[in-house]
Amino acid sequence: MSSVVLSIGSNLGDRAQNLRDAVVRLESVILPGSLRVSGLYETEPVDCPPDSPSFLNAVIAFETELEADTLLNETQKIERNLGRPLEREKNAPRPVDLDILLYDDLSIATERLTIPHPRMLDRAFVLCPLAEIRGEFALSAKNSDQEGLLRLPDPLFSD
Ligand code: ADP
Ligand code: MG
Repeated sequence: MSSVVLSIGSNLGDRAQNLRDAVVRLESVILPGSLRVSGLYETEPVDCPPDSPSFLNAVIAFETELEADTLLNETQKIERNLGRPLEREKNAPRPVDLDILLYDDLSIATERLTIPHPRMLDRAFVLCPLAEIRGEFALSAKNSDQEGLLRLPDPLFSD
């Protein structure tokens, strides 16, 4: 059993619904009772094509029996099933982007998978939700540039 943390983001279509759909589709790989979901954050697009819509982002953590590369197969399948084209412009709007931030305390550097995610420490929209569920990142989040980042009042799932 392994503990994983994913960043989930959307800037196309019904963004919150896309994020909910992605989490629901992950359910079969999430060990029962282990899912934790951060608050929702809205961010202005940075380094994106002109007129890109703003992003909704969150971080989720769960336990799984999947190996890291098998989990990446799953997350990429979900991205495609939710309408993400295979070929696209860099940082083009996407219904859903699923990035694996952490997998236990492993460091992985293969052609298709780098863990910890190389850009996680640069991004307030990752660090702030991450700090909500992994307190050890609170200091990094506090020191991050949070310009243009807004924490929304409503949770992703209101059960
Ligand atoms: P980005 O997330 O940077 O906007 P993409 O989602 O298009 O870019 O991902 C591009 C590639 O990043 C994928 O083909 C995948 O193989 C690779 N990748 C490397 N490390 C990771 C990771 N930790 N999580 C998700 N994808 C990763
Ligand atoms: Mg990605």
